[in-house]
Amino acid sequence: TFITFEGPDGAGKTSVLRAIVQRLTPLLGDRLVLTREPGGKDSQVAEAIRDLVLDPNLPSMDAWTEALLYAASRRQHLVDTVLPALAADKVVVSDRYVDSSIAYQGGGRDLGIESVTTINQFATKGVMPTATVYLDIRPEVGLQRIQENRQDEINRLDVEALSFHQRVTDAYHQLAAQYPERFLIINAEQDLADVITDTWTALMPILGM
Ligand code: C5P
Ligand code: MG
Repeated sequence: TFITFEGPDGAGKTSVLRAIVQRLTPLLGDRLVLTREPGGKDSQVAEAIRDLVLDPNLPSMDAWTEALLYAASRRQHLVDTVLPALAADKVVVSDRYVDSSIAYQGGGRDLGIESVTTINQFATKGVMPTATVYLDIRPEVGLQRIQENRQDEINRLDVEALSFHQRVTDAYHQLAAQYPERFLIINAEQDLADVITDTWTALMPILGM
């Protein structure tokens, strides 16, 4: 079983993931594999590409270069971490996957959903998650949360206008409409405890629990 977590900046993805993993660990033990993108558990090469693509000291990167690096990192992460775990019947939970590229590079950077899908089809050979938790929040609400709580992200996020984040969420919504059976849409504007409860409730049938 392959589960991905997706959402725009400020949706609370990190907090929700932490809580879900805390609840899943006693149930699944070492069948649970938590990983993240770009980069990933047990993938040194993918982590090195992450450092490159998110390096704030580099001049701004061409958007296609960025999309290709994300896809390259994803490929390595798939080979090193995701596919071996799935073959061993583990439950892989990934913080971001293909949908992030479609939303951020395809939507946010305006490369288009179709071309970014093509690049990722090439990188993943069509390996897609069983289910995707989508933390749904309006971009202005997400950005407001970051401004209140996360000094470290403010500078980087300031570079991207609200319109960037609006394009990111629009692309996510398009994906959610296109793949309703895969997308578990969670209202992330609620209190954290309710977001966690809704996520847990949505995931249980996927995990056969
Ligand atoms: O998941 P997290 O918020 O830690 O992701 C770090 C950042 O990487 C995101 O805020 C987003 O701006 C960026 N990102 C991206 N394209 C991706 C994945 C992540 O621009 N495909
Ligand atoms: Mg974030």
